Amino acid sequence: MAEFTMELNDEQKEVRDWLHGFAADVIRPAAAEWDEREETPWPVIQEAAKVGIYSLDFYAQQYFDQTGLGIPMAMEELFWGDAGIALSIVGTGLAAVGVLANGTEEQIGTWVPQMYGDANDVKLAAFCSSEPDAGSDVASMRTRAVYDEAKDEWVINGTKTWATNGGIANVHVVVAVVDAELGSKGHASFIVPPNTPGLSQGQKFKKHGIRASHTAEVILDNVRVPGSCLLGGKAKLDERLARARERAKAGGERVKNAAMATFEASRPAVGAMAVGTARAAYEVALDYAMTREQFGRPIIDNQGVAFQLAEMRTQIDAARLLVWRASWMAINGKPFTAAEGSMSKLFASETSKKVTAQAIQILGGNGYTREYPVERMHRDSAIYTIFEGTSEIQRLVIARTLSGMPIR
Ligand SMILES: Cc1cc2nc3c(=O)[nH]c(=O)nc-3n(C[C@H](O)[C@H](O)[C@H](O)COP(=O)(O)OP(=O)(O)OC[C@H]3O[C@@H](n4cnc5c(N)ncnc54)[C@H](O)[C@@H]3O)c2cc1C
Repeated sequence: MAEFTMELNDEQKEVRDWLHGFAADVIRPAAAEWDEREETPWPVIQEAAKVGIYSLDFYAQQYFDQTGLGIPMAMEELFWGDAGIALSIVGTGLAAVGVLANGTEEQIGTWVPQMYGDANDVKLAAFCSSEPDAGSDVASMRTRAVYDEAKDEWVINGTKTWATNGGIANVHVVVAVVDAELGSKGHASFIVPPNTPGLSQGQKFKKHGIRASHTAEVILDNVRVPGSCLLGGKAKLDERLARARERAKAGGERVKNAAMATFEASRPAVGAMAVGTARAAYEVALDYAMTREQFGRPIIDNQGVAFQLAEMRTQIDAARLLVWRASWMAINGKPFTAAEGSMSKLFASETSKKVTAQAIQILGGNGYTREYPVERMHRDSAIYTIFEGTSEIQRLVIARTLSGMPIR
């Protein structure tokens, strides 16, 4: 087990500086254009693939870094560049993690490379769980997967929504109900291979922020996938369902399990994205406050402005520490006895929204225009308190974990 450290090692510093260079030289200059276009920034993703940032190797290297700092460091730098473009670059990784975490070795070897393609033929992946009537309330999911034993195929029907890269991805990972009586314990994840008949893109959403990231509905109409596309395999699913049925018979789930290890492990990554956006806005605001003069002196000369910046930086650093702690706990298998992953996501996302709003205030009228990036950063930061569990859901998970009570 790696000791918890707040210091990046030399190798990590090198990677961080390389990512920062890409974020500063390639992502940030393209941010305003792709925000306006509201389209997937293919040329930037291709460039990221060419230099090795958009690749399974790079993602896996950071994901398995035993210090736990690889992913948060990478997310912070890329999202510092621009949240919409960065989400287009890392969106595939979020789907790939579903396969890395639950797939068999064969599934990982077959599908994850197809999620990325290569530098000359870039591909994307999408993770589809949310539905129109099942957002925070995952247990009310309706998409069904039924096993056709004669053909060893699963037949999937339903409508997914809010899927990042949904419909334009090469590979879709779809969560579906296999046993409706077990609530969220009766769900399973499936790979939908490229060009599978029955899968189509529904509405593409026009969004408030992260507009360079494609978000759409995914329609599944009698989608047939081979048995081998069930993540983890049928034997493992049957075992898991049998255990869940036993537990349900014995009196249902205990509230003790409120902090689910998978979510606790993935939420710090979203926290790190939020830290990246917050840091970017803070830096713009600090620079502006040092150079903008009113009343014959830089505006930072006023405590009213300087104290805001002091507060912003303090909150950003606190957010990063929570994120790093939770990431270290995740990779080292530490139990999340206080829902530390949810804590990190809650604090970092709320910080990002607050800090980017303060940045607009410090830039005055300029902050309110698209001539300066803080307006976009503020719009972008609003997503962090919504996806991967809203702030209210994080508070619910933390409170349930701390108290053991079925708080509603
Ligand atoms: C840009 C974007 C990208 C996304 N990408 C993906 C993706 O790639 N894959 C995917 O599967 N999903 C994705 N999502 C979906 C996202 O995870 C959901 O939007 C989120 O889980 C919230 O669900 P909802 O939108 O249905 O809101 P709802 O669940 O309807 O919530 C509405 C409001 O009610 C509050 N609320 C709900 N229940 C409670 C409660 N019990 N206590 C207190 N408050 C409560 C919520 O906090 C929220 O404020 C994405 C969403 C967006 C906007």
